[in-house]
Amino acid sequence: MATQIDKQLGDNVFLSTVDAAASWARANSLWPMPFATACCGIELMSTAASKHDLSRFGSEVMRFTPRQCDLMIVAGRVVMKMIPVLQRIWLQMPEPKWCISMGACACTGGVFDTYAVVQGIDRFLPVDIYIPGCPPRPEQLIKAIMDLQEKIKRTGTYDAREFKLRILPDGPSRFDEDELVRIRERNGLQLEAPKYDPIH
Ligand code: SF4
Repeated sequence: MATQIDKQLGDNVFLSTVDAAASWARANSLWPMPFATACCGIELMSTAASKHDLSRFGSEVMRFTPRQCDLMIVAGRVVMKMIPVLQRIWLQMPEPKWCISMGACACTGGVFDTYAVVQGIDRFLPVDIYIPGCPPRPEQLIKAIMDLQEKIKRTGTYDAREFKLRILPDGPSRFDEDELVRIRERNGLQLEAPKYDPIH
């Protein structure tokens, strides 16, 4: 027999955990930071246009300021000279944040098997989802975002403690501190070691 409280509340109350509620909200309001460098960028743009309408998945708000983004989408080939810029943008994005590598070039260097092109951005950034293809279709990007939503709902926590140790980008450090010390000693210089502060 239903209690008085059951009658009053009906189906208007459900119980969950804070983690699950936060992950649900985050997963359905991903704001992308487009890092589009080449032809894949055109597919990224068309994903947000009317035919494919990325806003159906809550991810149409592409911001060009990293501090308002939580989803980096690298679309196109990345050359070595761009890596410091890419890492700086990534570090300026607040946690929790995720990364999609879109297209053969971003994932592996694609057909550009040269010293100048990064042979996979996961050497420098932690990538959550890879999209194959040259170029991938907009539907593939939408599927990647849906997969990422599932991942966030499965693994996200309210305080993003899973990302707490992630204060530097993946990949090799930018400066060889030992080499700098050796140069200073060899030249008798009293130079301060350069401080890599990619956030400011
Ligand atoms: S994967 Fe193909 S379409 Fe995408 S940037 Fe590379 S060459 Fe262009």
